[in-house]
Amino acid sequence: MSLDDAAEELASALGVDKAEVKADLEKLVSYSVPMDEAKQSLRRKYGDAGGGSGGGEPPSKTEITEITPNSGNVTVTARVLTVGKRSIRYEGEEQVIFEGELADTSGAISYTAWTDFSLSPGDTITAGNAGVREWDGEPELNLGQSTTVTLEEEPLSVPYTIGGERDLIDLKPGDRGRTLSVRVIESERKTINGRDGETEILSGEIGDETTRLPFTDWNPHDEIAEGESVRLEDVYVDEFRGVPSVNLTEFTTVESISDVPVSDSGTELSIREAVAAGGVYDVVLTGNVIEVRDGSGLIQRCPECGRVVQNGQCRSHGQVDPSDDMRVKAILDDGTDTVTVILNREQTEAIYDGTLEDALEHARDAMDRDVVAEEIASKLEGREYRIRGSLSVDEYGANLNATEFGDSEDDPKARARAFLSEVSP
Ligand SMILES: [Zn+2]
Repeated sequence: MSLDDAAEELASALGVDKAEVKADLEKLVSYSVPMDEAKQSLRRKYGDAGGGSGGGEPPSKTEITEITPNSGNVTVTARVLTVGKRSIRYEGEEQVIFEGELADTSGAISYTAWTDFSLSPGDTITAGNAGVREWDGEPELNLGQSTTVTLEEEPLSVPYTIGGERDLIDLKPGDRGRTLSVRVIESERKTINGRDGETEILSGEIGDETTRLPFTDWNPHDEIAEGESVRLEDVYVDEFRGVPSVNLTEFTTVESISDVPVSDSGTELSIREAVAAGGVYDVVLTGNVIEVRDGSGLIQRCPECGRVVQNGQCRSHGQVDPSDDMRVKAILDDGTDTVTVILNREQTEAIYDGTLEDALEHARDAMDRDVVAEEIASKLEGREYRIRGSLSVDEYGANLNATEFGDSEDDPKARARAFLSEVSP
């Protein structure tokens, strides 16, 4: 922002003469006072002296908990909890924005700052004339050109964590400005078609003591390599296939740290808890298989896209020469809720107790492909299993892609632990 613009903004916010403000600003800047500090000092000067004569009374303050998507513009005094920096494309232009949460004693709210107000976690600020918009059904503050941000000297105590440090298990889609200490479990370089043509990214899996999550590094950092432990400052979280996914950007700082221990057990949850969480990347569910669904056993896939085809007809590619595969889609019930468990070819072969070739021969002999699914159902239905995998929840329902599949009796200790955690308060 130019000095002239800053003077204009200050003058209109404070209701004083622009030429006067500009002269003061010029003086302060000539003494090497940073622009933001200079602006604050002038706000104090004219704010104190201005009284009610100049620009009218400042709008009365609103408590965060009272803000609704229809609040219009508000003035709040709040503590800055987190600050995340991100580059987005807005109306065709590349723009750097700042996002995070603000809190007062009544509640917390997300914000987006469209200009750099030099916010830092822990700052107590008064944001005057902040816009309110609705995002995902919740109100969110917009700090823009017409917003004034003043740093308060007295810190506001708030019942929230200041700063972005979190465990992986606590991350939710929509989180901004998070700081994580993790180990890189898997990392793969990929070429994608980005908004500016072909670009290289890293994607894989990170873990800490609480859980594991998928990640994408949009601006590959050298420190991100399999087996390395790193501190990631300023990442954001979105949703990928129904589970939280961690995103690193050009603004993320990556620092090598000493070895971070990683959970190797998955989070034990009841099916109701896991579904209510809206998806869990690494979860362990225990329940009874009550039904093996259609589309299990021998199936055929499109060689182009991998979709399951019926009678050689792919929805995208028309008539194709399909390839044979095996899978199971089974309904698992633990008394709290149900999910569909999806087992891959390897897992399905283990249950069927034969290879894909054996299954094809079995179907040819019986002149019926359904015999394979029937045999699998007779082995699975009515029995209890302990299944680890990635649970996604979307409009098609709750699906658990299994990474480990076993009789619940295989691990009685884990079963006892899960039971105890359900019954104890
Ligand atoms: Zn296809």
